Amino acid sequence: MESRTGSAIFDRLGVSRVINARGWITAVGGSIMPQEVVDAMVEATDSYVDLGELNEAAGNAVSGYTGAESGLVVAGAGAGLLLQAAACITGVDQNLIDQLPDTDGIPNEILIYKDHLTNYTRCYRGAGAKVVTYGDEAGTPHKQLEAALGPKTAALAYVFHPWNSCPLTLEQAVDIAHARNIPVIVDAAVMLPPVSSLTSYIKQGADLVTFSGGKGLRGPQSTGILCGRADLIKAAQLNMSPNHGIGRPAKVCKEEIAGLIAALDLFVKTDHEAEWASWRTSSEVIASSIRDIAGLKVKIEDNDPNRQGPAVAIYFNDNWNRADAETIMQRLAARKPSIRVGSGNYAGEIFITPVTLKDGEEYIVARALREDLLS
Ligand SMILES: *Cc1c(COP(=O)(O)O)cnc(C)c1O
Repeated sequence: MESRTGSAIFDRLGVSRVINARGWITAVGGSIMPQEVVDAMVEATDSYVDLGELNEAAGNAVSGYTGAESGLVVAGAGAGLLLQAAACITGVDQNLIDQLPDTDGIPNEILIYKDHLTNYTRCYRGAGAKVVTYGDEAGTPHKQLEAALGPKTAALAYVFHPWNSCPLTLEQAVDIAHARNIPVIVDAAVMLPPVSSLTSYIKQGADLVTFSGGKGLRGPQSTGILCGRADLIKAAQLNMSPNHGIGRPAKVCKEEIAGLIAALDLFVKTDHEAEWASWRTSSEVIASSIRDIAGLKVKIEDNDPNRQGPAVAIYFNDNWNRADAETIMQRLAARKPSIRVGSGNYAGEIFITPVTLKDGEEYIVARALREDLLS
């Protein structure tokens, strides 16, 4: 992506720019919005509108793209999770909406497979939900899920993430939960791209699905999508700003709603194959600069359906006797500009995700990485 405005505001604030080779990670700024998204946000600053009407129009656009009955622009997938829990606990009952986060006397348990727990699961608890896990290695997952669903279960949560898996497919989990009239809520925050994710979980029977707006979708960083059953979206909306439910602090403004919809419009029109190919080229530039270094295994991980782009994984063999991964990551981060890379979460490897590199930064990363591995 080309540089647009430079970083004058960050200069004025005395904040340094970083080279983001970690991917769409909130802690390093999430994503960079395409000009079309920025333009839509600027256009939306100029008028007052009725938020209810805007929410409805945006919701219609979201249902058009997702195939869901209904949709809502929310303040990030984290807010999407909070509102999923709130919607399943309260429905459209205003007394229950007023009661949250106190869930005394109402079904309040969000059931989740033990390996589906993430740092984000706590967002459910913000609505007053109690998170209950099921599953262990001993039994059969079907039976374990059936046994775990009870009178206090408000919803079954299901997560799509490269590091989390469940032996039951979403469709299997949906069958079991729906047989007991329990809604299934999906966290698909990181699953865009591919475009097919927009529709696939809804097609597989999920009742509510949330996506980040500010990761691969490249909308405003603080936005997200919630889509699903009309009654549950209505319930989510009643719990959220501009209404006065538990989701009131997770407000989205008219500019963010406009930006998210512009990002969706652009996302479905993007040539994702060409984009993937350019990320692959950047990966090659980085991988080929270090492939000859003894003691490393350098792999371009390019075909994991759960990943949103190719990445360079650097594994350290037993005969590696230079600095460890953490030290190398610190050296990269200490550079000016600071270069941020990730860890791949398997075996102490370094993981470089070029999806967030600007044009030309792959060469800076390639050179720095070689130097910092060898020094
Ligand atoms: C990033 C992420 C979220 C939160 O998404 P935001 O849009 O940043 O609020 C939720 N769940 C998972 C698995 C994530 O990776």
